[in-house]
Amino acid sequence: MKVTFANSAHITTKERLVLGHGRWRNISLKVRYGLCLHPQIGPILIDTGYGPSVTKGAERSLGLKLYSSLFFPDLIPEQAPDAILSRLGYRCDNVKLVIVSHFHADHIATLNQFPKAQFLARRTVFDALARRTYLQNLRHGLFPELLPETFSDRLIDMEQSPLEPLPHGLGEGWDLLGDGSLHAIDLPGHADGHFGLYFSTLDTPLLYGVDCQWLMRAITENRAPAFPANLIANDPQALSHSMVKLANFQAKGGDILLCHDPIDSPCDWPNFAQDSDDMGGEA
Ligand SMILES: [Zn+2]
Repeated sequence: MKVTFANSAHITTKERLVLGHGRWRNISLKVRYGLCLHPQIGPILIDTGYGPSVTKGAERSLGLKLYSSLFFPDLIPEQAPDAILSRLGYRCDNVKLVIVSHFHADHIATLNQFPKAQFLARRTVFDALARRTYLQNLRHGLFPELLPETFSDRLIDMEQSPLEPLPHGLGEGWDLLGDGSLHAIDLPGHADGHFGLYFSTLDTPLLYGVDCQWLMRAITENRAPAFPANLIANDPQALSHSMVKLANFQAKGGDILLCHDPIDSPCDWPNFAQDSDDMGGEA
């Protein structure tokens, strides 16, 4: 298997908001999503990043328009999922599987573009979202209007995958593809049911920590941002445990990647990380 991470958009924020004792200067963050090329399943997306459904369209709810004007994502169309898939010789309807780590807008904005895909996500989290009112979801930063209408029918509960013990202090993880190449790891704290993805067979094992923090420095220097980030986190105590899990994994030689960290990674598009027994081969 091979995996790359593309950058769907830039967002600008103050460093102090995403790094404890950071400066009040503007910094630009990425909004990554992952694309795996699996030898049997084909292209698999890990979230989708931002897309025009967040930034454009009179039909958007008032809350989504406000959200978009607050974060003001600067989309990068040439790194949108449809553009990257096309560069690799695929169409959107070749995607049979999208893994949804959590339901924030910057992770689900282009799910509507994949009519043939099933969605590996947490059923309990989707059910809770489906039960809440618009305003209750808004308080959690959730916009169900971004989900395909058929989402529930196409949802595969990731917790139905086999749960296996994992090395490097990761605890247990769900073997999502049934071949040991990709495990979902609980990384609670940021959002309801938030999980990361562990790639054990890559040349260097990789843990995609998604939104556990915005910056790697917040983890490696133990500088989680305070107010107002600690208000946004859905469980600040669980979040610090998740940060320790990532730091320990890195200390044991694994690679960590976050969705928003601005520092380029060796597996950022157009580079791929790949299985150690697959060097130079096709996906
Ligand atoms: Zn998030």
